[in-house]
Amino acid sequence: MSTFKLKDDIKAYIQELTCNSYVNDELQLDRICEKLKIDYFECDFDDSKISGMLIKDKNFDKFGIYVNRKHPNVRKRFTIAHELGHYISYKYESHSYSQLSQNNEIEDYAISFRHEGIRSQAEKEANQIAAEMLMPELRVKEMAERKLTIEEMADLFFVSESAMTIRLQSIFQGLMVV
Ligand SMILES: [Zn+2]
Repeated sequence: MSTFKLKDDIKAYIQELTCNSYVNDELQLDRICEKLKIDYFECDFDDSKISGMLIKDKNFDKFGIYVNRKHPNVRKRFTIAHELGHYISYKYESHSYSQLSQNNEIEDYAISFRHEGIRSQAEKEANQIAAEMLMPELRVKEMAERKLTIEEMADLFFVSESAMTIRLQSIFQGLMVV
């Protein structure tokens, strides 16, 4: 399991950004995009393997998120959160900064946080930001204490069961039997 840890200032920013944007435990991603003035589009990509993209309009310094229309909702949600992760990483001049400054876009093929070992720091950071936004550590720990099942937690956060499983493993560092 990855030992990648989010920087404290980014963690604090995520909390500030997302507070009041949950309905029960479901993060309202449209509100986050609105707050950040990021446009959101669903589209058909020529390459169906693309999950999503973050594109910077170099003239206006404005960002747009493009997500594969054909993917299931839980996957779209993770993709949006992941692209927001790249944006936040850029904003904090962290791992996504150089790529977005040079190319003005990030294209994501089949986002998965299963193979973190071979992924770049920018991808790991975007995934960690996405996970923290969609499944905040404190709430996950509370639910785990209440002995909710993975399926119940995934439903509450509106994420896939595989995303939920990996989140639990990363929070409890493999101590938990899943
Ligand atoms: Zn990415």
